[in-house]
Amino acid sequence: VPVIGVLALQGDVREHLIALASADAVARPVRRPEELAEVDGLVIPGGESTTISKLAVLFGLLEPLRARVHAGMPVYGTCAGMIMLADKILDPRSGQETIGGINMIVRRNAFGRQNESFESAVDMKGVEGDPVEGVFIRAPWVESVGAETEVLAEHGGHIVAVRQGNALATSFHPELTGDHRVHGLFVDMVRAEQGRRSL
Ligand code: GLN
Repeated sequence: VPVIGVLALQGDVREHLIALASADAVARPVRRPEELAEVDGLVIPGGESTTISKLAVLFGLLEPLRARVHAGMPVYGTCAGMIMLADKILDPRSGQETIGGINMIVRRNAFGRQNESFESAVDMKGVEGDPVEGVFIRAPWVESVGAETEVLAEHGGHIVAVRQGNALATSFHPELTGDHRVHGLFVDMVRAEQGRRSL
């Protein structure tokens, strides 16, 4: 059974722990480098990306996170977590760092100007059946992606879900809906990587 961490510096950690457990993973909060070293994959929750970035530096986690993502650890970021996985932020706050891992440029609070929060059905590649219920809360969108980044979903002409290798990111929050198919997709990615590593 894959052991999947949830970066527990700030944000909706609990909801992700529950969603991962429902998708047949063992889920644990990660706050320290030693805890990061013990997980097979990591979720970076929604919250506030500048705060998560600053706490990651403070807790000595930014470089270990970059190293593990660079080494191919499966990682899934929702909303603020998506921002943390972007190689580049269009409008970073001062001192705002990202982990990187996905060749994309994100725009923070992109949907926020029209609507602070909204829900919409989203068709997502890799998720079978009905569209996913997309919960967008001051959500970013992806402004542009590199050739190696696969677009998994769009909303209103804007990219809201992407994958590059073992890194997955959504602008929206599947952990808040009770539908655990997106977490299931991520757990499958972690299982596939475990399989490759045990060959
Ligand atoms: N607007 C937040 C940020 O820039 C993200 C909001 C969220 O994660 N729901 O970090």
